[in-house]
Amino acid sequence: MPEVTVYSTQNCVYCRMAKAFLDKAGVNYRSVDVGTDREAAQHMVEISGQYGVPVITVDDEIIIGFDSRKLNELFGSETESEVSDVIIIGAGPAGLTAAVYCARKLLSTLIISENIGGQALASWTIENYMGYRMISGDELMKKFEEQVREQNVRLDLDRVREIRKSGDVFVINTVSDNTYRGRAVIFAQGKHPRNLGVPNEEKFLGRGLSVCSTCDGPLFKGKVVGIVGGGNSALQTAIEMSRIARQVHLIVRSTLRADEEYIRHYKGITNITTHLNHVVTGLSGDSFLTGVTLQERTTGTSKELVLDGLFAEIGWVPNTDFLSGVIDMNDQNEVIIDINTHTSLPGVFACGDVTNVKSKQIIIAAGEGAKAALEAHEYVLRVGNP
Ligand SMILES: Cc1cc2nc3c(=O)[nH]c(=O)nc-3n(C[C@H](O)[C@H](O)[C@H](O)COP(=O)(O)OP(=O)(O)OC[C@H]3O[C@@H](n4cnc5c(N)ncnc54)[C@H](O)[C@@H]3O)c2cc1C
Repeated sequence: MPEVTVYSTQNCVYCRMAKAFLDKAGVNYRSVDVGTDREAAQHMVEISGQYGVPVITVDDEIIIGFDSRKLNELFGSETESEVSDVIIIGAGPAGLTAAVYCARKLLSTLIISENIGGQALASWTIENYMGYRMISGDELMKKFEEQVREQNVRLDLDRVREIRKSGDVFVINTVSDNTYRGRAVIFAQGKHPRNLGVPNEEKFLGRGLSVCSTCDGPLFKGKVVGIVGGGNSALQTAIEMSRIARQVHLIVRSTLRADEEYIRHYKGITNITTHLNHVVTGLSGDSFLTGVTLQERTTGTSKELVLDGLFAEIGWVPNTDFLSGVIDMNDQNEVIIDINTHTSLPGVFACGDVTNVKSKQIIIAAGEGAKAALEAHEYVLRVGNP
């Protein structure tokens, strides 16, 4: 067995998933909390050349992030070619709810997802999911996951890259070169963070630039950070980071568009400096991000900010890149569904943030997931299982 070490922080769900993957594969590993052990944190940054968690070392190999493809390559097992009744793509609130409903209808159910929990994992606090006055996204998604794990549902961590129909079944291929077959499919693959659209973004990702403040936030204790965005996510992140970092710069393209609740809270915080009507036009630094260039949108004047970290909280785009030409989508690349979650392709249903349903919320995604599962059940009974 190779020597495996997982460098993680307590709130990092990707770290939890990496460990869950290793546990499932029966791999022994050493776990190091770099949120509390500063020396280990320094070591992790030195060996990986970046600030993001998790970092996994497998003998001399260094894996940055929860790279399910790489982990599958090293520790995964071959998939069988059995035909599932329903394959659900995505394990966010929509997919996990759909899975519980499918399993309770005794459908053989497989979820293929890159992570467990989806966007909700990035939420520091959720105050509008019924039954909980206040709960972190991580905690709520753990509860969703537990409920799924109690059912007869198979959950594979992987990324879907292609779907096609072959006879009566749908064939799905993943980036780890696994092939799955299902009678019905539910798309629940949600959205991913939008890029800043400035040069060198790739270079600094994990090297000061982060799209997951709940994961990487603790590594910026006592430092100066920037947060880009003016919506709920950006304000939530600014409020949380004001407790961790020494100074927070909130960079807002126009004006704040967050809920009153967040705005009221943020207004009382003294270590947040807000730059309204500014955009990021450049990232600077050698191997790590050390600053950004901001441009005022009306006058065009530029200024430099010295920063240790930058969190991009500027919105999300649908995970539908592998669906072009396969299914009808709107001009925002969201899957078009009818009121009962049917897509343009019979046997394929969709729910949650990946669809054209206007409101993007956990409770709505979960509700749509339940609807999609019930429709898939009806479809499998009618045509999928002659
Ligand atoms: C910072 C933040 C704070 C938020 N706060 C709140 C809040 O307080 N209250 C609220 O109601 N909502 C909140 N939301 C919105 C809420 O999280 C989303 O509406 C909800 O998560 C959508 O669920 P979903 O299941 O449709 O999609 P997602 O949550 O996006 O889940 C999609 C899943 O699909 C997987 N996936 C993607 N592509 C592929 C692929 N090709 N192959 C396999 N798997 C794939 C992903 O890994 C993920 O597991 C917040 C969102 C963010 C970002």
